[in-house]
Amino acid sequence: MTRQTPFPLTIGGAAVRTAAALPVENPATGEVFAYAPAATREDLDAAFDAASRAQPGWAADAARRERDLLAAAEAVAAAADELAELVTTEQGKPLAEARAEALGTVAALRHFATIRLEPTVLSGDPQVVVRRRPVGVVAAITPWNSPILVAGGMKIAPALAAGNTVVLKPSPLTPLSALRLGEVLAPILPDGVVNVVSGGNELGAWTTEHPVPRLLTFTGSPATGRLVAQAAARDLKRTVLELGGNDPAILLDDAVVADVAEALFWAAFGNAGQTCVAIKRVYVPHRLHDELVAALAALADEVVVGDGHDPATGMGPLTSAAQRDVVTGLVEDAVGGGARVASGGKPVKGPGYFHRPTVLDSLADGARLVEEEQFGPALPVVAYRDVDDVLRRVNASNYGLGGSVWSTDPERARAVADRVEAGTTWVNTHRGSLWPLQPTAGHKQSGVGAELGVWGLESFTDLSIQHDALAVTARRVGLVTAAGPDRPEE
Ligand code: NAD
Repeated sequence: MTRQTPFPLTIGGAAVRTAAALPVENPATGEVFAYAPAATREDLDAAFDAASRAQPGWAADAARRERDLLAAAEAVAAAADELAELVTTEQGKPLAEARAEALGTVAALRHFATIRLEPTVLSGDPQVVVRRRPVGVVAAITPWNSPILVAGGMKIAPALAAGNTVVLKPSPLTPLSALRLGEVLAPILPDGVVNVVSGGNELGAWTTEHPVPRLLTFTGSPATGRLVAQAAARDLKRTVLELGGNDPAILLDDAVVADVAEALFWAAFGNAGQTCVAIKRVYVPHRLHDELVAALAALADEVVVGDGHDPATGMGPLTSAAQRDVVTGLVEDAVGGGARVASGGKPVKGPGYFHRPTVLDSLADGARLVEEEQFGPALPVVAYRDVDDVLRRVNASNYGLGGSVWSTDPERARAVADRVEAGTTWVNTHRGSLWPLQPTAGHKQSGVGAELGVWGLESFTDLSIQHDALAVTARRVGLVTAAGPDRPEE
């Protein structure tokens, strides 16, 4: 049945309506509040075709790119409140956090607009120059937990700055903010530079199989990341995969619980725990265990769980019933294995996908809540004996996204942090980012490649090496002198 959708696809600068539509729920009510267009294969072909046609012109004019990306930043800034409202309604997070996503995208557009990846000259004679060239057309596939920041700030801004054009496919759970972003950008950028297509998971698979994109930049679950890597292997597309995490926070024995509990708490429970680099397990020496559990439980008891539109809300709903059920299942499994619930422990009755912030201890060895990514508001606290013991346990994970060490002795903490096997390690904080300069890169099965910073920008390019023997050869055959006009500068 055809439904009225608030936002169209953006393809080649034009608004495209579709016959089919996908329901989009408000997770605070559990009700469908809007429909998103469901793109067909033909729509996807048209999007990649538009991106292909736009790419050479976009790559050729760096001054225009800078101008357009700065103008895009202003347009997103002007639309920040509207985008935040959409994020809160489709994803659930409190409005202030949703607004921070839009403003983070503005900052990334401004930053990457003016960054140039300068050529490196290895030698003047022969002349060897190493450049970075855009890969061409980029396909960006994004998850539902931070729908604007991941799409706009981590993918579109650097991809365009490097001279690529983009086809963005947002999560079917949160497509509206990305579709609106496409509409906001369309009048500013040349037609086809950014295309946004929404649809179900099958649209993601079609995207990865499409012959046009040369790079798949994907953020999402490790399971889907594997499918993306498999699809990419067929024609050796480049991939950047930002996948899941199971970040540990380690308190050393000199940590002061009262000083760190609140920061630990919000690094775990911000966005209802639905953040790739959220703290997902806390390790504490036996001596501090009870004090820490009590402090975290007291903070959990105080949190106002509710609709993200309500200014009193500290924590919104899970984004979907499925994710709420994942969390409920992991908590039940932990309790069945002997874990003790210090706070929360249950989903909230009534409409919407709410779950109380939950703190647990006394988990059995190998409990799924410790081993797996919960991506939700349930935090296991685990006691440890000594530093070697805790490092062995945290590093046994297949994940390696982030980790933090908390201590009154930063030098000691840094030394322990150096031994945590993760892309990012923090000391006395967790999730902090020098946005958008600080890169993020998952180790082990948390990802492939980097995003953000110069390193993330380079991920959107191929190396292009030019070795020019002309000066040497010409001199050898006596065509020019060493100081002659063809001699390259050294
Ligand atoms: P997901 O893997 O279910 O979906 C991500 C995207 O992939 C969606 O757009 C989806 O439609 C698409 N997709 C589904 N099947 C596909 C297929 N066969 N081929 C191509 N695309 C397909 O992930 P999610 O549930 O939306 O997001 C949660 C996960 O994302 C968590 O594991 C979280 O840790 C991770 N995440 C990681 C980071 C990071 O930077 N490392 C950031 C945010 C989220």
